This record gives sequence, structure tokens and C-alpha cells, in this order.
Amino acid sequence: MKKKYIPEPRSNFLKVTCECGNVQEVFTHATTIVECRVCGKVLAEPRSGRAGLNAEVIDVLDQ
Ligand SMILES: [Zn+2]
Repeated sequence: MKKKYIPEPRSNFLKVTCECGNVQEVFTHATTIVECRVCGKVLAEPRSGRAGLNAEVIDVLDQ
């Protein structure tokens, strides 16, 4: 798995950081709501096409 820093990823995983400081990975095409494991904030929610992100992306995990 290679790492890339690109602002507009297509179908892959993003590493995001929650405002509580937790870091976790979310799929860019999430079909269900992804919540922070620590504080429960919604980090990503399904939208048409790509998941809507409510967290800061710190890395892109290309496949
Ligand atoms: Zn959190």
C-alpha cells in the first residue's frame, strides 16, 4: 500500500483526525455513517457519489 497526498481522492481510504484528537480511517465511499471511535462525532456520512467528510483529512491511503 502506497501513500499519496492528493486532495481529490477517488475510491480509497482516508486517514482523518477528529476534533477530539482521535485518528481513524474512513472509506471515501462510505455507505453508512462513520462515527469517531472515541467521542462519537460523525466523521463521514453517505452522500451521492462520495461520502461527506466532517473531519480533517491528514493522509490518503491509496490501494
Ligand atoms: Zn472524536
